[in-house]
Amino acid sequence: MRFRDVVGHRSVIEVLRQMAIRDHLGHAWLFHGPEGVGKRTVAMAFLSFLVCRNRTEEDSCGECLSCRQVDQGLFPDIEVLVPDGVFLKIEQVRNAMPRLYFPPVVGPVKGLVLDDAHRLKIEAANAALKTLEEPPPGVIFILVTSAPDLLPRTVVSRCFPVAFGRLSTDEVRSLLVARGIPGETAQVAALVARGSPGSAMRLAQAEDLAEGEDLLRALLDVPHVTARFQWFEGLGRGREQNLARMVWIESLVRDLLRVALGLPESECAHPDLIRPMQALVDRIGIDGVLEMAEALLAWDRDWAYSPSVPLALQRLLQPLSPP
Ligand SMILES: [Zn+2]
Repeated sequence: MRFRDVVGHRSVIEVLRQMAIRDHLGHAWLFHGPEGVGKRTVAMAFLSFLVCRNRTEEDSCGECLSCRQVDQGLFPDIEVLVPDGVFLKIEQVRNAMPRLYFPPVVGPVKGLVLDDAHRLKIEAANAALKTLEEPPPGVIFILVTSAPDLLPRTVVSRCFPVAFGRLSTDEVRSLLVARGIPGETAQVAALVARGSPGSAMRLAQAEDLAEGEDLLRALLDVPHVTARFQWFEGLGRGREQNLARMVWIESLVRDLLRVALGLPESECAHPDLIRPMQALVDRIGIDGVLEMAEALLAWDRDWAYSPSVPLALQRLLQPLSPP
């Protein structure tokens, strides 16, 4: 993965590139920002840039053995830890740390990426901390997370923070199209997933997009909260499908906020649903919509730990209960 193959994040990449070519490489980085925007992709492009045998000041070559091995996850000096189940476990961290103290096999650097780093169990974070404090020369840590405030402060304070933003709808659409999603589907998924290619890809793959819009229409139509909840329960519970549904529901709540605050309708992801959304806003008021938005934030924060969609939905729909 070369920098030029990454969609968006140009200013982040420029910072990383400049720090690398001017030899001001920090040894620990915290890549943080919304879920699914490409933080890990940039981390891998950055590591390619550091180990490429033919790199220019602009980019890695994408073709040398090192570049190809990074792409295939086979480069001997780079390890990526992903949560084993819900958490990054202490054994994973304990196994990875001693290896960092050997000189690189190919080099010139050794890299350890902790993906979803907020899922480090506290003992695992403590096991990593000593190495983070006094890293062996040439070792680079990249912690990737959508929830940096769940990481121990002792860990965060050792890292150079790099903030990732959302992509534009156009950037997400072109990324989906490049991965073989038809243009029209890519457009709808990009719009609904608001700047997160990861969520958009999930949408485009998990469910027929027309069904997604039907889902929202039905959600707005079913009169009482209990009935809405029962209706949702009846839809089946495949994890991927449920997560995709939550992306749809998130997009609905964002639109409800726009309607409630009188923001331009042209920015709504669901212009066809303005009328039923307006009816709902009239009924539950701006406070009800804000409560839903609050529940949504809680869902964003918690879902890595307890992806119970029915529970999240129950909380989201609470404001719709008749007084
Ligand atoms: Zn290369």
